[in-house]
This record gives sequence, C-alpha cells and structure tokens, in this order.
Amino acid sequence: MKATRKFSPFLLLASLCWLAPSPQLNARPPANLPSAEASSSDSSLPNSKGGFARATSPEPGAPESGSIREVIDDRYKVRYQTWKNEFLSTDIGRAQWEMYAHHPRLVLTITIAATNPNGAATGRYKWNSNGELIAATIALGRQVDQGYPSSVYYPVMNALEPFESKQLIGGSVLAATKIAHEFGHVMKISGTPESLYRLQVQLVPVYNKIFLSNGYNTSDPRLEELARKMGGNPVEIWEDREYWGEANAMLFLRDRVAKERFHCKLFNKIKRTVEEYAKGYEERFAEIAKSQGATYACSWR
Ligand SMILES: [Zn+2]
Repeated sequence: MKATRKFSPFLLLASLCWLAPSPQLNARPPANLPSAEASSSDSSLPNSKGGFARATSPEPGAPESGSIREVIDDRYKVRYQTWKNEFLSTDIGRAQWEMYAHHPRLVLTITIAATNPNGAATGRYKWNSNGELIAATIALGRQVDQGYPSSVYYPVMNALEPFESKQLIGGSVLAATKIAHEFGHVMKISGTPESLYRLQVQLVPVYNKIFLSNGYNTSDPRLEELARKMGGNPVEIWEDREYWGEANAMLFLRDRVAKERFHCKLFNKIKRTVEEYAKGYEERFAEIAKSQGATYACSWR
C-alpha cells in the first residue's frame, strides 16, 4: 500500500516522540512502522539531560578536543567489532570515522543500548557557547545486524532485505549500514544551527497540541505560522532528517557493494522506493548514485 505524505495522527505521534525534551534520542519513526529506530528513552544510556542541555564550556574532565568514545559492554564487544570492521571496510566509512576520531571539538559516543535490539538512535546533543556541536551519542541495538525497517522512511536499509535472504550479504553489512545512517544524523545535526534545533524542540509540542484539537487541520493559520517558523511541520522535519540518514547509508553502500554483481539491482531497488515514497527528497539520493561514476551509475542518472 502506498504511504500517504499527508500529516496524519500516527505520524504526529512520531514527531511528538522524537522532539520531546526528555532523555530519549532524537530520531523516532511512526509508532506503527517497523523501524531501525524504534527506541526512545533508554535507561542503559548514561544519564544526562538529554540532547537539549546547553554546555557553555567543556564539562570538567571532558577532553578538550573531539574523539570517538566507544562505551561497549564486554558481552557485546565481539559483535560490535565485527560491525565496526564492516563499516571501516569502505573508504567512506574510514573517512567518516577518522573525521570524528580527530575532530577538533565533537566527542562522539558510541554505545550499545539494552533496549530496541534491532534499532539505533542518535541524540544527547550538546553545543558550546559558539553554537558548535561538541557532543552526540549513537546508541546501537544489541542485535542491530537484524531487522529491516520500513521502505517508506528507510528506502536504503530496507533495500538490503532480499539480498540477505539470498545470502548475498550478511548481517554485518546491515549493521554497518545502520551505523552509517546514524553517522548521517550526526553530520546533519552538526550543520543545523542550535537555535533552530531548540526552536523545533520548543514549537513541535505546541504544533501538535493544536493539531490534535483542531480536527487535524494542517491549513490552520496557527499551524502554518508555526511550520514557517520551524522550517516545516513536525513530520516534514522528521522525515527530512531520516532521509539524510538514509543518504549517508547509501553512501556507505555505494562503496561497500561497488564491485558486487548485484550492485545495480540494489540501487535500482532503492531508486524505485525513493520514487514511490520520497520523491521530494530524490535529489540527495540521485547525487550519490551519480557519484558512483559511469561504471556503476546503473539506471539512476
Ligand atoms: Zn534515523
């Protein structure tokens, strides 16, 4: 069934969750869609004020320069290393890892969450007084190498499913693709002004409250004004972020499967899904497909 792009109550629930000012992480899909990011609050994560606390200076004892902090429970270390190795097997994975390992400011924490086993999420953002992102946390599910999210919002990760069932790829490729998706979130939020992010956090609940009480009328002038202020309605903001995550996942797969004989099949499947569900966001995916060069551009030109 084709998904509608209209603002619907169940999508509203999603946006209520992902922008709620609580310790939960920022990305959350519609509650009734299977997803790689079905987690919200996660008590296994280090306790903090969530991604919305402002840090005006590095915390006492915090490193002054950026790095990647891997906080992995012993029982997950072997599988985590397998997933990480898969991510680092590509040029783009190594480049992105190196960028954050030697980042001038940002401390990127990667951990394994006790809940949401097949999902992953990114949050706990902090900015410095210059408005620069200095902290983010990626929480991977303990079985992130299993489970394919919906094609509607996850056209890249979902496209892998038939290739695993045909044993053309393993679960570690899926896990590494989910890691790439989360890196995409970190990169996107790094380029988002803190003020805009905070404005969205503040206004989305206001938008949702009106939406629930006005008969789900998105043409309500109050809602149109709120959407104008925060750069879109809550679902538009949310899906834009998810599709940036997927674009980075596609960048990883571009390198990972470049020499596989099913390369074009995979990218054609992504193309069909993007055309069906994410037409308004097609350009960002098409750019990545084109960057493969003539040999691997397949039919996406
Ligand atoms: Zn996501």
